Amino acid sequence: MKLIFEKSVRGRKAVELPKLDVPLQANLIPEEYVRQELELPEVSELDVIRHYTALSRRNFGVDNGFYPLGSCTMKYNPKINEDTARLEGFSQLHPYVPEEFSQGALQLMYELQQYLKEITGMDAFTLQPAAGSHGELTGIMIVKKYFESINEKRSKVLIPDSAHGTNPASVTLCGFECTEIKSDDEGEIDIDDLKSKLNDDVAAIMITNPNTLGLFETKILDIAKIMHDNGSLVYMDGANLNAMLGIARPGDFGVDILHSNLHKSFSTPHGGGGPGAGPVGVKKHLEKFLPVPRVEFVDKKYKLNYNFPDSIGRVRAFYGNFGILVRAYTYIRSNGYEGIRAVGENAVLNANYLLAILKKHYHLPYDRTCQHEFVLTDKNLSNGVTTSDVAKRLLDFGFYAPTIYFPIIVPGAIMIEPTETESKEMLDTFAEVMIKIKEEAITDPEILKSAPLTTPVSRLDGVLAARKPILKYEKQMVLKEQE
Ligand SMILES: *Cc1c(COP(=O)(O)O)cnc(C)c1O
Repeated sequence: MKLIFEKSVRGRKAVELPKLDVPLQANLIPEEYVRQELELPEVSELDVIRHYTALSRRNFGVDNGFYPLGSCTMKYNPKINEDTARLEGFSQLHPYVPEEFSQGALQLMYELQQYLKEITGMDAFTLQPAAGSHGELTGIMIVKKYFESINEKRSKVLIPDSAHGTNPASVTLCGFECTEIKSDDEGEIDIDDLKSKLNDDVAAIMITNPNTLGLFETKILDIAKIMHDNGSLVYMDGANLNAMLGIARPGDFGVDILHSNLHKSFSTPHGGGGPGAGPVGVKKHLEKFLPVPRVEFVDKKYKLNYNFPDSIGRVRAFYGNFGILVRAYTYIRSNGYEGIRAVGENAVLNANYLLAILKKHYHLPYDRTCQHEFVLTDKNLSNGVTTSDVAKRLLDFGFYAPTIYFPIIVPGAIMIEPTETESKEMLDTFAEVMIKIKEEAITDPEILKSAPLTTPVSRLDGVLAARKPILKYEKQMVLKEQE
């Protein structure tokens, strides 16, 4: 497919501006600042529409197929969220509008915080962080500030070996050192290893629950107690909150700080790395450290309070990715109390249904009831067929690939998260295809090794793409290729 630049024809236009009906003011901009040639494609409106429609048809999203990307919660995003996010009073509201004219937006933020408190059992929230990883950073900044406030110097944060890569990144960025905790045979935190690494230099543990193997940390109460007895804090990466919505609350099992990925658990399209939101919740004793401004409800009015002298300060311009907050709010309101619980229950049910079928065919390293996702491996596939081959072949059958080679403690991991929004028929179809691929590994390994066969491009050089990305259109380059 050609680039839109290559479809350019000199002089072709999509829009014609009316003729100038006032005297021409020449030389308003000094000559040296006037751009002589703007290298934009010259195309008609129809050219633009056809070009981008064609591109969009090559895209894959939850709206056109099953997207079992583990840890990412690619659930269906209800379209009512898009309607509310586009309401003019929200979408056209300037962030500097005085409080008396932005009561509705502030009310939405205030109520969303209340819902998140109720769902998670935490005492206070900030909506500012723009993603889960940004929430982690915010949370660890709060950990730092907390120990400063009690005049203690602690330099280490414990992180299980199954953790998401953003966990050590956030910890390191904040000036702490990471200490890795091993997982035990059940896929949970190894308590003995944890105890052996605990001392008065440990500020916190960063725990993911359910963890990235899709397993609930059943010893979480003990872990929280051990940490608290040591004067340390418990941070929970809440990316997998979907599994426990309406069922269990981190605030009730000893978590001091938590982030929630609204774009995952509370539905916003996030496949292309678009805007997200990672609100951070804390227990009472850490509330004064939350970022400012904080949304409050005083004397029947919503207001922004900047007056928290112990706050870590702002972590983002304005008040967070407001459009994502509107979507999460809409999602929570439209599901209601029972609906939210049903999300958690069905996410777990769907994952266990798929697991029960697939474990008869694929190697399952941790054979337990799972939460919202589970991890298989390529261990018993024939003819050296790998996880990567399975993932590529799934594309030929119209599915997005699961998360692969993560968590890194499982060699050849295939991490599947079906989410609650998929039907039994879809889960059955996916299972059939997975089983068929396993048989192909015996009968037709060559197909698997060269898959995908039906996509616009097949196997790309991922390393080259990462090392030498071509991000800029170069006319010469295209012309050279055409020669
Ligand atoms: C997605 C995810 C993150 C990072 O969240 P972003 O919103 O992508 O920054 C962190 N931890 C886990 C377990 C995740 O799945």
